[in-house]
Amino acid sequence: MSLEELNYQIYGCRKCRLWQGAKHGVPGEGPLNAKVMLVGQNPGAEEDETGRPFVGRAGKFLTKVLAENGIKREDLFITNIVKHISPQNRKPFDDEIAACVPYLTMQINVIKPKIIVLLGATAKETPRLEGIEYIEVIHPSAAMRFGKMRAKFREQIAELAKRIATINT
Ligand code: SF4
Repeated sequence: MSLEELNYQIYGCRKCRLWQGAKHGVPGEGPLNAKVMLVGQNPGAEEDETGRPFVGRAGKFLTKVLAENGIKREDLFITNIVKHISPQNRKPFDDEIAACVPYLTMQINVIKPKIIVLLGATAKETPRLEGIEYIEVIHPSAAMRFGKMRAKFREQIAELAKRIATINT
């Protein structure tokens, strides 16, 4: 299945309750041949409004820290483990994650990234597929709010940049 077909499935998906409160499904975006995939929790208000991932405050902060380390956002495939916004931005329930994860698995199988960066705790439930390196980092929204986490997040992204440099050589 192509990513385009997958996106249409996500836009029309009714497999869990979350679509009911959403304006847009947010499948994710990035090049088909991305070597690095970023996975967050699920879309927030601005993402729901625009249909694009990580475009709100946390997304802008993430993009800035990536750029500071020489990583271009447009080189990455950016998505979430759950594709619709949840009420009051609550953490998605287990049954919602279970219903949505097959879309992420299909995206991974199409894109075949070398590295998957897991942003925050919920993203750790991303399926672990053979031959892919998984790197866990703090979610940018937590990093924005707390000074210690911000410093750690910057260190983690700097480490990620070094790792990406090795797969690009
Ligand atoms: S969150 Fe995922 S499983 Fe639930 S309706 Fe949206 S696309 Fe379907």
